[in-house]
Amino acid sequence: MKYQRAIVWFRNDLRLTDNETLHQALAMAKEVIPVYCFDPRHFEATELGFSKTGPFRAKFLFESVLDLRKNLRETGADLILLRGKPEVELITLASRVKADAIFYSEEVTDEEKKVDEALDQAAWGKGIATESYWISTLYHIEDLPFPVYQVPEVFTAFRKAVEKMASIRPTFPNPDKINFPAEDLLPMSGVLPDLKTYGLEEPETEPRAVMELNGGESAGLGRIQSYIWEKDLLKMYKETRNGLIGGDYSSKLSPWLALGCISPRTIFEEVKRYEKERKKNQSTYWLIFELIWRDYFRFISKKHGNQIFQIGGIKKQEDSWRRDSALFERWCEGLTGVPFVDANMRELKYSGFMSNRGRQNVASFLVNDLGIDWTWGASYFESMLIDYDVCSNWGNWMYVGGVGNDPRENRYFNILRQGKNYDRNGDYVRLWIPELKSIKGFDIHHPWELKNKELRDLGISLGGSYPHPLVKMQSYS
Ligand SMILES: Cc1cc2nc3c(=O)[nH]c(=O)nc-3n(C[C@H](O)[C@H](O)[C@H](O)COP(=O)(O)OP(=O)(O)OC[C@H]3O[C@@H](n4cnc5c(N)ncnc54)[C@H](O)[C@@H]3O)c2cc1C
Repeated sequence: MKYQRAIVWFRNDLRLTDNETLHQALAMAKEVIPVYCFDPRHFEATELGFSKTGPFRAKFLFESVLDLRKNLRETGADLILLRGKPEVELITLASRVKADAIFYSEEVTDEEKKVDEALDQAAWGKGIATESYWISTLYHIEDLPFPVYQVPEVFTAFRKAVEKMASIRPTFPNPDKINFPAEDLLPMSGVLPDLKTYGLEEPETEPRAVMELNGGESAGLGRIQSYIWEKDLLKMYKETRNGLIGGDYSSKLSPWLALGCISPRTIFEEVKRYEKERKKNQSTYWLIFELIWRDYFRFISKKHGNQIFQIGGIKKQEDSWRRDSALFERWCEGLTGVPFVDANMRELKYSGFMSNRGRQNVASFLVNDLGIDWTWGASYFESMLIDYDVCSNWGNWMYVGGVGNDPRENRYFNILRQGKNYDRNGDYVRLWIPELKSIKGFDIHHPWELKNKELRDLGISLGGSYPHPLVKMQSYS
């Protein structure tokens, strides 16, 4: 064995299945100590005052860490919980338990890379080896048919090239047994922090939420099982994926993917098995297609580094954005007076989730209709989304903000037309905006077009119980 005792630092790879980092540590070290470190920087306030990790994701993270610990205990190991900067705490622990190596999974973006570098350097100074692995994508970075700095700027070119010239590696199996050092060597395994530790309130249970989203590999694998196999929904994914209400319209795998509770390759293998055993059609392919979008934003983020967070984006466009805090707050609170936008923003506020259709609409409204700085929107999403993924979030926001690499010049969404296409009877708006629920059918999407008497009869006062629209909306026809 190359190492006597190795620490495996879990971060956005909170799983045992298909975890190459863990797999390699087990192959190279006699004893393995799994560790998770709660980094206070992840809970700091952003410039706009939001906690970087809001309550929905924090709760999901704690559940995921707890589940990982439970699964590790079944293999004979444990999960040591630390608090502080990983580049400091891991070195202290390694010295204390005499570990000669630290294994971790590679991240893509700047803040995480800086932590990796600091850790590598500190470890080097103490004679501790570090080993890192790329494990977050469907296509492995080494299998891309081009070097990362030449990743095609346009999604379709990227997708066609990888589909034609690269293959997807098989998953790594679950470890049965982990050789964990004798307990007296280790400090206390550590307790989980709670939301209050980071100044966060426990989110209330929201009956209107798409579904219950519990953190952890067990729940993530359970969702694959129920979505693909028990409910048999994969065969109609392409037709339903633009839905807005309930658990069934799309996979809802994003929160587990974001924290690495499940891997995209595990999903890929399940889709292939489904295609063999049940049905193969456009829908089964489309789930893979969406996972390639995820890969694409990850590789583009690696290629462009910090630019994905800059106001000018990849295009380095001039800054001509408005920074109007009052308007922005109305958007965050779901009080813009445009029901389709408000319904989606309230879903996010009360449940931590929003459909892909909703995300595109509210993002377009913020940047195109209100003209507000797209990075403000991205920053709010970062705090609120239960499935926040740095590359997918900032990449998609750049796209909508027109500063990414979208070949289409204008990504303007006509909100009323979108409402007409995806919420024709207004059921979604009615669900999240109860003060408008007495308006029948599609009219709920544009209450400003109703006569004063009609509104009075329905018990609605525009400018009173529900706001006037912040901007004049384009007609849907
Ligand atoms: C402004 C904006 C911000 C977004 N922020 C995030 C984010 O922080 N985290 C996140 O995971 N997704 C983000 N998305 C992408 C997408 O909205 C979500 O992945 C999707 O809604 C999650 O639901 P699902 O798992 O049911 O998706 P499904 O439709 O079932 O898709 C399966 C998986 O494919 C991937 N995927 C699907 N669409 C996209 C996409 N456009 N870009 C990248 N990956 C995709 C996701 O991993 C998703 O879980 C964002 C989209 C927009 C427009």
